[in-house]
Amino acid sequence: MTSVLLRGCHIVTMDSGRAEYASGHIAIEGNTITSVGPGPAPADLDLAGASVVDASGCLATPGLVNTHHHLYQWATRGRAVDSTLFGWLTELYPVWARIDEQVVADSATAALAWLARSGCSTSTDHHYVFPRGGGDVLGATVAAAREVGLRFHPTRGSMDLGASSGGLPPDEVVEDIDTILAATSAAISAYHDPSPGSMLQLGVAPCSPFSVTGELMRAAAALARDRGVRLHTHVAETLDEDEHCRSRFGCTPVEYLDSLGWLADDVWLAHGVHLDDAAIARLAATGTGIAHCPSSNARLGAGICRTADLLAAGVPVGLGVDGAASNEESSLIGEARQAVLMARAVGGPQAMTVRRSLELATRRGARLIGRADEIGSLEVGKLADVALWRVDGLPHAGVADPVAALVLGARPPLDLLLVNGAVVVARDEVRTIDEPAAARAASRAAARAAP
Ligand code: ZN
Repeated sequence: MTSVLLRGCHIVTMDSGRAEYASGHIAIEGNTITSVGPGPAPADLDLAGASVVDASGCLATPGLVNTHHHLYQWATRGRAVDSTLFGWLTELYPVWARIDEQVVADSATAALAWLARSGCSTSTDHHYVFPRGGGDVLGATVAAAREVGLRFHPTRGSMDLGASSGGLPPDEVVEDIDTILAATSAAISAYHDPSPGSMLQLGVAPCSPFSVTGELMRAAAALARDRGVRLHTHVAETLDEDEHCRSRFGCTPVEYLDSLGWLADDVWLAHGVHLDDAAIARLAATGTGIAHCPSSNARLGAGICRTADLLAAGVPVGLGVDGAASNEESSLIGEARQAVLMARAVGGPQAMTVRRSLELATRRGARLIGRADEIGSLEVGKLADVALWRVDGLPHAGVADPVAALVLGARPPLDLLLVNGAVVVARDEVRTIDEPAAARAASRAAARAAP
């Protein structure tokens, strides 16, 4: 009993053999892919009652996986636009201290809807600002993801190292370690769903070496491993951070994480821009993943991640838009383009192919968040997370390679985005929420957060 049949599209499966079909079909029953292959659907497929989509002129890819984000930052875009990370953070922390449940709800709805428009079917979130009296800001992100309809991997973030103790953030935005651990444990109990086809899995994510104590890093890792959830943090984003770690801990940021038990295959790290050869070898040996965020790194002038070297060493790598305050575009397919261009800008034209970049945005991203068995490729038995890009319009008609059209060309119209078999985007419009209303709410949220 097929519920949706896409036919006549170019299909990039991202399966283990990287099969592509110039004109093929994808059949879906409920939330699961039941057939994918070249040509029309098999004659014995039961199409009674199926919604049949003529997808000619389109390119089908797995729904994209966003491995790093801060949804609340949607309300604080366009600030400190010419600053380094530390200068940007110093200007933004007092703004973030003003966020509350309503600001986060409206920011998250807008950010997730826009991610969906960029082909993203699964997003992580790293929420680490919990102002006193701000209400249930983590719950607001979960509610927004349910409303928009994306598969969601939020993390309960944290900061416990305020300025008075040698950290970068002002004391008003940090919490104490007992509060953090209790709230994190409660969030896992409330939200984490490890069952097959899960739409929500929670992770644990202390913020960064300059805003978190080593004590919290160790305790957070112990909690996550006890509860069977994944670990996430920022690392090696800027030279300032490198200098901070060397002066405070006498080692590199990656060595510091290693000393805290934070290099392992249940960990993925945002950025990893400033890595020496030893760090890359250690990440590879331990299976620790990197969420590559090229636009944010460029926006903050942080540097260029050594993606080609990471991939050659066998480090798991995915893509992330990062928070919208350091990447106002926040388009995941845009990150696939940036990843290719920045890798080539420093490593030459062979440094990253367009298909490799699309891998980072799909199957490799799924590996980073522990969902490789279920999402990230179009295969029988996998969850029906599918992006259908129109590539026969003005910007793309006649481009020899449809994957080059998608990755190097303008962002194509998104004809359809299915998440868990359900329509989230159709004809470049989010169908689960009212887009103009979400835009108005995002404006109000920005005004409310503004100092
Ligand atoms: Zn970040």
